Amino acid sequence: MKIYNTMSGKKEEFEPVKEGKVSMYVCGPTVYNLIHIGNARPMIVFDTVRRYMEYKGYDVNYVSNFTDVDDKIIKKANEEGVEPSVISNRYIDECKKDMKALNVKPATTHPLATNEIDGMLDMIETLMEKGHAYKAADGTVYFRTRSFKDYGKLSHKNLDDLRGGNRSLLVSGEDQKEDPLDFVLWKPKKEGEPYWESPWCKGRPGWHIECSVMSKKYLGDEIDIHAGGEDLIFPHHENEIAQSEAANGKTFAKYWMHNGFLNIDNKKMSKSEGNFFTVRDISERYDLQILRFFMLSAHYRSPLNFSAELMEAAKNGYDRIVTCVSNLDFLIENAKADKMEDTDKADSERNALEKAKGFIAKFEEAMDDDFNTADAISSIFELVKFANTEAGEQSSREFLKALKDEIVMLSDICGLIVEKESDILDDEIEVLIKERQEARKAKNFARADEIRDDLLKQGIILEDTREGVKWKRA
Ligand code: AMP
Ligand code: ZN
Repeated sequence: MKIYNTMSGKKEEFEPVKEGKVSMYVCGPTVYNLIHIGNARPMIVFDTVRRYMEYKGYDVNYVSNFTDVDDKIIKKANEEGVEPSVISNRYIDECKKDMKALNVKPATTHPLATNEIDGMLDMIETLMEKGHAYKAADGTVYFRTRSFKDYGKLSHKNLDDLRGGNRSLLVSGEDQKEDPLDFVLWKPKKEGEPYWESPWCKGRPGWHIECSVMSKKYLGDEIDIHAGGEDLIFPHHENEIAQSEAANGKTFAKYWMHNGFLNIDNKKMSKSEGNFFTVRDISERYDLQILRFFMLSAHYRSPLNFSAELMEAAKNGYDRIVTCVSNLDFLIENAKADKMEDTDKADSERNALEKAKGFIAKFEEAMDDDFNTADAISSIFELVKFANTEAGEQSSREFLKALKDEIVMLSDICGLIVEKESDILDDEIEVLIKERQEARKAKNFARADEIRDDLLKQGIILEDTREGVKWKRA
């Protein structure tokens, strides 16, 4: 399995730190609002990486934080006249609802920054003892960037270029820094802000330190994969590396993975420009499985453009798989023979299953090549096409089940739910069955078939018997 490592700029063979185990840390959202569809991209992409690792037999420890102390959270809390934790808890709950609808598995641990302050104080203390951090006159603690000789190794930036670029960014209070490149580890409290006691001043942590501390606590000093959106490469991940490696004296993460950005109608997502969607907005128009399918239909490192047309294309693609699985369910229900018996027909079914395995191999090949989900989904489509031609009323139940299981298994690795559970009510089904009967009487077979197919997509199987139409849920 090859993974593109931002650190080396190359695809590298994946070799875990500990055999059979994978430790992954994915930077999570700051919780002051409903998550937007850009935030959903790393969630979906790295959940798929996790699922594939699990499919390959690895025991995956997946950690993703919620940043629950931050300027935006504090601002919103002050506007609403509530404690910041009211805001962060509300949006953590909402985020978890969106994750569930996107079929993103809960992390092994979802740590909160505010629960990890002690660990942050310890790490800052260590950095000070080792000469990598210092306290300024107002109590702010800075990381001494030039003391970490590898600074810039992830973003491939040169310290002197950064220094030139940073000069114009000097803001008030920054003049206390020894060097403009130094960044905040701990800052003094301001009026109306939450704060914690520390040896330096009453205050709160800088943003970067939380991830270094949580990654160490839940996964250890050396982890396999650290991931997030590409905007985090610099400065967030660069600063995490400096903090962790300076404090622990070990390589922080072996593989650095970053997803490309999601744009809307080829423009950067922006609230003020009006091209901004939350995941919740999209859920009002689409099943969120379609959003997941859409995200995976591109390579995770490529930029991805969101538009109504592309979502429609994603809907059609996803529906193709769902319809195939529903059709197989219908055939399974009505199959005449149970097993593949020892006949010519069984031989051809066995051959077909052998061929179907080829699509699994293609799927794996695509995923092994830096998680190329676009190609992996193409191989699911090939399998669907194959199933549509090979499966029929004469097929044995065993054969049909095997085909269905393969499609469901590959879709599941992508986190796509293709076996639809119906939420249609009995009364609604009866009305549609009646309409279908009338359509048939009027020889409007197209409409009759359409109703049958629509019901099938919702997992409702119709059976025309001598006593009339019977139905059941698949
Ligand atoms: P934030 O809450 O801004 O820290 O973002 C949480 C995660 O979403 C980070 O991994 C970001 O890199 C990622 N992210 C934010 N905006 C986008 C976007 N438009 N496209 C892809 N990823 C994004
Ligand atoms: Zn982080």
